Order: sequence, then structure tokens, then C-alpha cells
Amino acid sequence: MESWRRRLAESITTPEEIAERFGTDPALLAPVARRYPLRITRHYLGLIRSVGDPIWRQCVPDPQELEDDQLPDPLDEERLSPVPGLIHRYPDRVVWLVSNECAVYCRFCMRKRRVGCPLRGGDGGTMHEALRYIAETPQIRDIILSGGDPLLLDDEHLEQILARLRSIPHVEIVRIGTRTPVTLPERITSRLCRMLRRYHPLYVNTHFNHPREITPEAARACARLADAGIPLGNQTVLLRGVNDDPAVMTRLMQRLLAIRVRPYYLHQMDLVRGTGHFRTTVWTGISIMEGLRGHTSGMATPYYVIDAPEGKGKIPILPDCATLQGDTWLLRNYRGETIKYRDPVG
Ligand SMILES: *Cc1c(COP(=O)(O)O)cnc(C)c1O
Ligand code: SF4
Repeated sequence: MESWRRRLAESITTPEEIAERFGTDPALLAPVARRYPLRITRHYLGLIRSVGDPIWRQCVPDPQELEDDQLPDPLDEERLSPVPGLIHRYPDRVVWLVSNECAVYCRFCMRKRRVGCPLRGGDGGTMHEALRYIAETPQIRDIILSGGDPLLLDDEHLEQILARLRSIPHVEIVRIGTRTPVTLPERITSRLCRMLRRYHPLYVNTHFNHPREITPEAARACARLADAGIPLGNQTVLLRGVNDDPAVMTRLMQRLLAIRVRPYYLHQMDLVRGTGHFRTTVWTGISIMEGLRGHTSGMATPYYVIDAPEGKGKIPILPDCATLQGDTWLLRNYRGETIKYRDPVG
């Protein structure tokens, strides 16, 4: 067994183990853990400093998960699936859900409806169908491997997927979305990186939500990927009681750049059942973006996006910084000053 598998097997998976360690009541968490799976790696567990802190909130079940009355799949991902596991929403790119397993089951997950459940159809058959759809659809040039977490697959299985994708001429780039640098940094082995670098152009988008997640181990995992020539991006979810604070978010984005990870998206929480207690207002997101824009490196500033219901797509939300008045643009800079700007007449 590879050592990351052993580390994963040591994870906490029951409310009793949480109770034992933190002195909480396991009876409160048991119904939640029966409804939505629980797993916390030793690495991630070690980042908790106190009950209810930003790390705790992300990984420990909360009875509020059972109170929410939203839809399980508001983005209509299942309806947009031409074959099981493939989401084709935009013209030139698809999301391929190659795994339903994650190292840590995040309580705010947008795919709560399926993570931790067996992969439907059995992977051999669905893999064949998905590959055939991609091969027969020449407008697809960008494949996003997601899940669950694709890096919970073994190197051999992942390599098989990458090799098959690379044999399709119109597939230009492959992206992998993974939270393992944060939750199971042991997964980013040099063996994995040696394999991945044979399938360029390859991008990895990871998922840090709080500056405390940027540990020396996570930094080393990201360095290994970056040293394999893989550009690293980050997708953060805006979460109440975790990172809904301009100072925390600024620190997170700055520290990501310091480990060679470029902030890509800041996601407004989707209206997914079981995640209501994490939701913030859009105003919170806008004020956080105002706190970033101009105050720190432009490279530290992600796009703030709302994924519109019914699969209508991601929409960037920009602070209101340009209005046209007659033939003059009124521009607002990061200090709140208004600057007049006129297009040269041409
Ligand atoms: C987010 C997403 C993509 C990728 O969008 P980009 O803006 O290109 O990163 C593709 N398909 C689906 C269904 C998505 O949700
Ligand atoms: S790692 Fe991603 S897919 Fe897995 S539980 Fe967390 S948010 Fe969901």
C-alpha cells in the first residue's frame, strides 16, 4: 500500500472519535454523519485549535445540515449530463466527475448529494461512455477532472484517464481540481508528479479556504506540483464563520501567491441543501473584493463568481467601478476617489 493510502486509512470517520478528542456530544452528530459522510484526515484534524473554529466548521458535521430546505442539485448538473459523470454546460469544456471520494468531506460541499456515495454505473463502463462522448464531440478542448477528488484515485487509474484523454486530438488542456494539498498533502508524492508531468499541458486547481490551511506540508505539496511544471490555481468558497472577513481573505490570497498558487475564483455559496449555515450575502462578497482590489497585488485578486441556478453558468460580480455619464467615464479607484476618463475621439 502506498503511504498516502495508509495515512488516509488513519482518518477519523465517526462522531465518537470526535467526541473522544474534543469532549463534544456524539449523539448530536450521529444523525448528520448518517446522512452525509464524515471523514477527517489526521493532517486536517491537527489544524483544529478549538471547537467551532474555521477548520472545525469546514469538516465537523453540524446539526444545521439537516435543517436546510434547498435543492440537492440547484445547478442542474444531472440534467446537463449527456452521459453519467460528465457535465457539459459550456460550449468548449466539460467537467468529468471521475471520483466520488474525498480525503475530507467538506460540510459545505456543492456536491453533497453524491460525494462519498459509490460512483454510479461502476467506473469501467461510465469511463468508456464519457471518453466516447468527448472523442465524438470535437468542440470540447478543455477537460476538468473533478469529483469528489480525482487524486483519491490511484496513480495507475489516473494515468489511464490522462493517457486516453491525450489520445483525443481535439483535447487541448486538462485541469485537475483537488483539495488534497490542503487535506492530505502526503498524496502529492514525487511518483505522482513524475507521472503527471508526462501529460502536459496540465493545470491543477486546488482549494484553500483559510490561511491556517497553508501549512509547511501543504506548501511542500504545491511546490512539488509547481516544480513538475504544473500551473497552480485556487478556488475558494466564501464561507460564513470561516473566511467572510476582508483581513482573513487578504491574508489567504497573499499567502497563496507565496506558495506559487494563483487565486482564480472566489465562489459565492451555491444554494445546495444542507449548506445554509455557511451562506453569506452577496454584499459580504463584494466588500471583501473591495478590500482586495488595489489594496494588494492584482495577482492576489480572484474573480468573485456566482454560479447561477439551473446551470446558467458562472457570473463574475464586479464592484461598481465604472459608469458612463454622457461621453465621460467616471472611474472609482481603490481609495474611493472618482476619476474622469474620456475615450480619445477616433
Ligand atoms: C466551473 C465550470 C466549468 C469551468 O469554468 P471556467 O470558468 O472555464 O473555469 C466548466 N463546466 C462546468 C459545469 C463548471 O461548473
Ligand atoms: S474536496 Fe471538494 S468535492 Fe470533496 S467534499 Fe470538499 S468541496 Fe466537496
